[in-house]
Amino acid sequence: MVRVDPSFVERVKKLGAFDITACYNCGNCTAICPLSSEGHEFPRKLIRYSILGMENKVISAPELWLCYYCGECTDTCPRQADPGGLMMALRRYAISKYSVGKIARIFYDKVAAAFSWTILSLIALIGLVMFMNPNVSASEMEQNFPFCFIGKEFIHDAGLVLGVIVVALALVNLYIMYRSISLGYSRRAKGSVGLWVKNLVLTLIREVAAQLKYTKCENKLRYIGHMSLFWGFVGLFIATITGFLRDYYDIMIPPEVSLGLGVIFGILLIYGSLYYMVGRFSKKEAYAKYSHHTDWVFLWLLFLTGITGFLITIFRFMGYPFLTYVLLLVHLVVVFDLLITAPFTKFSHAIYRPLAIWLSDTMDQLAREAPGEKEAVAEVSQ
Ligand code: SF4
Ligand code: SF4
Repeated sequence: MVRVDPSFVERVKKLGAFDITACYNCGNCTAICPLSSEGHEFPRKLIRYSILGMENKVISAPELWLCYYCGECTDTCPRQADPGGLMMALRRYAISKYSVGKIARIFYDKVAAAFSWTILSLIALIGLVMFMNPNVSASEMEQNFPFCFIGKEFIHDAGLVLGVIVVALALVNLYIMYRSISLGYSRRAKGSVGLWVKNLVLTLIREVAAQLKYTKCENKLRYIGHMSLFWGFVGLFIATITGFLRDYYDIMIPPEVSLGLGVIFGILLIYGSLYYMVGRFSKKEAYAKYSHHTDWVFLWLLFLTGITGFLITIFRFMGYPFLTYVLLLVHLVVVFDLLITAPFTKFSHAIYRPLAIWLSDTMDQLAREAPGEKEAVAEVSQ
């Protein structure tokens, strides 16, 4: 049964600056959207659901995640209703709904978010200081700087625990989203395991690694910025793993490889985060006219991750131990903040979008191959 909630738009309005009540349902936005397709028309469908307060329909619509907020619909809306802004606000709303225990709501409330980020940073800092080794000999310092103070063993073990917690939380959230989207179809998705696996691999290659749907948006610079952010972060993660594989699992990876990867992907991450920060400061493009605090926190955390990692390397080689050490502390706190909150913040787009694309692509394929499934897909597309 569809639940209608007239207060829905008011709640979503707190997460954006759109004026969807100005919409007169002309459909221009859906016609102009480069990512809208037959069977997955948006954003007008989501606008209607929102105005009618059909919350369940909104959070179970995969189309929510097919939008990359290129802003072309907003630029051409004759009523300045900002449909792109609504789509973004709905994604913020959906992130809260998909999160286990609705924890994500904390990060979308300014005061609660500021309090939570402060507490998390303090926990990380106190943890690091507690496990610090203050008695370092001169030779140790020379050989193993800056990890003579905060041992690599501690960072390795803490990183593993953090990784397990984050992956577990992300999987629970993904399951909640999966259930939500599945319920949007009139029948449970079927099809062979092979088909689901094949489509998963294709989604990972096309829409995670290459983000091909994004290339349909007019502004190609934004695509490059988005790819830089994504690959910058993934590359730095790989660079860190290579270091651990060498230090703890005796896998012969030359240190120069980790260093080279760190520098290249660090530059990419800094470029990508700066690109979006400058865009949001200048407010020239539709996507940047309104910035929610979660947009800024996400960009700052990514930027600080990249810049501190980069400066650690530079100061280390230039022989500034104090600066290197302070930056290492800041870097570890920032990375902790970024990762522990990843399943609840804008970072979670990285997991929700691929899941939505994978599910909708597979459902569409099932519908094409088995006519009996057509009405199941049609149900979500109305
Ligand atoms: S949001 Fe604007 S373009 Fe879209 S249907 Fe409403 S009035 Fe038309
Ligand atoms: S912001 Fe871009 S992708 Fe999103 S609905 Fe509007 S036109 Fe489509």
